[in-house]
Amino acid sequence: MKIKGYLPILILVLAVSPGLVMAEGDVMKELGSRAAAVAMNQLDFDKGDENILAMTDAGYAMIGGQTTEAAVDGVSETCGCTIGKANLLMVHRSKFSPLWFFFYDKESDEAVYLRVNESADLAGEDVFSIVSKEMIDAGYMLENPKEWNGKFDAEVFGGNEFSLTTIANVWSHPNTTYDLLQAAMLHNHICPGLTSGYMISKYVEGNLPLETSSQSYKVIACPVWCKEDAFQVIWDATPGKRGLYAKGLTGDNKAALPDYAKNAAGLYIRWNKTTNTGDGLVMGFNWTKAQGMSGIKPADFKNFATYKWWWARLKMDLDMIDYIGNPETVCTTIMEFQVDNNDLTQLQEAGVNPYVYLDIVEAPRCLGVMTQA
Ligand SMILES: [Zn+2]
Repeated sequence: MKIKGYLPILILVLAVSPGLVMAEGDVMKELGSRAAAVAMNQLDFDKGDENILAMTDAGYAMIGGQTTEAAVDGVSETCGCTIGKANLLMVHRSKFSPLWFFFYDKESDEAVYLRVNESADLAGEDVFSIVSKEMIDAGYMLENPKEWNGKFDAEVFGGNEFSLTTIANVWSHPNTTYDLLQAAMLHNHICPGLTSGYMISKYVEGNLPLETSSQSYKVIACPVWCKEDAFQVIWDATPGKRGLYAKGLTGDNKAALPDYAKNAAGLYIRWNKTTNTGDGLVMGFNWTKAQGMSGIKPADFKNFATYKWWWARLKMDLDMIDYIGNPETVCTTIMEFQVDNNDLTQLQEAGVNPYVYLDIVEAPRCLGVMTQA
């Protein structure tokens, strides 16, 4: 009878034992495996088919406080998609996002999306609350925008329609590079803004190449747009490591830019940590030209009432891939400059408009802190 007294302790020990945590990992791995099996059945492909792209937010999404990375192994072991073959992309999401899996066949242009119902029994029959199959070829989507807009409204891919269709269509393009896909994994979609960052990085690397291990790029991101997520991935220029400072420009700040700097896309500095000096470029990105080459009107980008917002972005995503290796098509140098440690500190500080600091814009008289050092 005495053992009864130890029963609650025994249960507690079991509940926190590594064995039980392992079992939860096994459930998660099995979940990834089951998602892959459903997709293999619906898309009719065999393990190891390199026409298949698998994407998931497993590893980022959490369920009931548990991390989900084991599901990635389940996907990979079942369908044969791997990181090394660049056909397994782990797409960044918040821990609060639902767990999902997505499989795309670039031969048939069909895709299957599966969303996990986190309140269901994860080992049970009804674990996927959405299993949907769609034709996602960009040509088809662009030619049938009203039909596809209905699918956006119906959230056929659980609200991830733009994210998944843009990444999948760019992945299947022959000019796509893995570093662009890596940037897309952080940004969790591909848009002309992210591609502009990729092109700016290529332009800067060509015009201010890193020549010694003491040099690295620093970005004064001003104004801020989607491009910033490319520099973090490609150059490891992260805010936390003081590689990237994100600064907004107010409408008045933008209006104050002279005509030659209206396309301003930030400051890019090749910094030498040994000499504490750097060479910089104020870059421009010619959106008018880029949109014109795709036959897109600027207003289309802001037209969220119809299909135009995603249609314009998807069309430009694919058009830009065609000239992504020639950044000078749309990237320009607005100004070259040199900086020392004091300059860099000033440019990084709150309240300092970098375009005023570089004398591109005249300092507002009321703000003495913005005067040139
Ligand atoms: Zn974006």
